[in-house]
Amino acid sequence: MPKRIRKITIIIRLCFLLGVLFLPPFFNYLFFPLTDTAFSRTDAPPVLKLLGEESINLRVGDEFVDPGALATDDYDRVLVSVEGAVDTSTADTYILDYSTFDSAGHTASVSRTVTVLPAPRGTIYLTFDDGPGDYTNQLLDILKQYDVKVTFFVTGAGSDDVLRREYTEGHSIGLHTLSHNYSYVYASTANFFSDLYAVQDRVKNVTGYTSTLMRFPGGSSNTVSARYDGGSHIMTRLTREVEEKGFTYFDWNISSGDAGGATTADQVYENTVSRLGDGDYVVLQHDIKPFSVDAVERIIQYGLENGYEFKPLDASSFSAHHGVNN
Ligand SMILES: [Zn+2]
Repeated sequence: MPKRIRKITIIIRLCFLLGVLFLPPFFNYLFFPLTDTAFSRTDAPPVLKLLGEESINLRVGDEFVDPGALATDDYDRVLVSVEGAVDTSTADTYILDYSTFDSAGHTASVSRTVTVLPAPRGTIYLTFDDGPGDYTNQLLDILKQYDVKVTFFVTGAGSDDVLRREYTEGHSIGLHTLSHNYSYVYASTANFFSDLYAVQDRVKNVTGYTSTLMRFPGGSSNTVSARYDGGSHIMTRLTREVEEKGFTYFDWNISSGDAGGATTADQVYENTVSRLGDGDYVVLQHDIKPFSVDAVERIIQYGLENGYEFKPLDASSFSAHHGVNN
């Protein structure tokens, strides 16, 4: 090959090499006339951050909108690509992989887990009567750990601080009369309402909340009231009158037995979970009984593992009313 041609070939090769080296920034500058930082490459890889939570739980049928991820780079304008999809009609665990790369060949990736849970088999409303008591703080710790909200039907017993904690941690506060003294509250409707308003005042003074949720001592089906009401069928009158005065009363369709036959946590647990099927359940427990509080963690675990959701009662919840017997 003549010397001149060889020289030209070398020059062309050099130009090509220089072009490869300098064209990308040049093109970058052409298309993205950025500030000076566009050319201050530090060789850092792109930074990719998830928007929203790293793990998201949904129920079948819920809508899923991917919150996405945000990529930044010291040099390039980088884009995020997503692999994977979430089918909210099928209960499963889905992984979304987000990735990006820069012109220097650096990559970054993050992923998100989306769990689509089956439709709930039912709702469990755990309710605790007669407190606050000595074991209520222990119960509140367990409920907090599982992020489960319940309902407390409180009396005049126990500490105001614990009652306040029940309320501030998101549980429903219901009324169970101040004295819980059958011979007083069921002697007349006047006595009953005076005691009911007294506990309503207590809750209001401690929490600032005026509760209109209530449960009769002994439930609406109790017959013990017949001993004290002089044959006036007070439960028939009270169940009507509380609603006329704007209260909503609740009974239960699962008794844990902790006020009678059950004396161990195992019995409370068995009495409760053995009655669960498909549907909604209001469970009666007492947070003044240590063995009943001891059963709660296992009841929650069973419920969650078997597709139930736990909710606190509100005025529109399933009321589990009993038949009135007096
Ligand atoms: Zn009670």
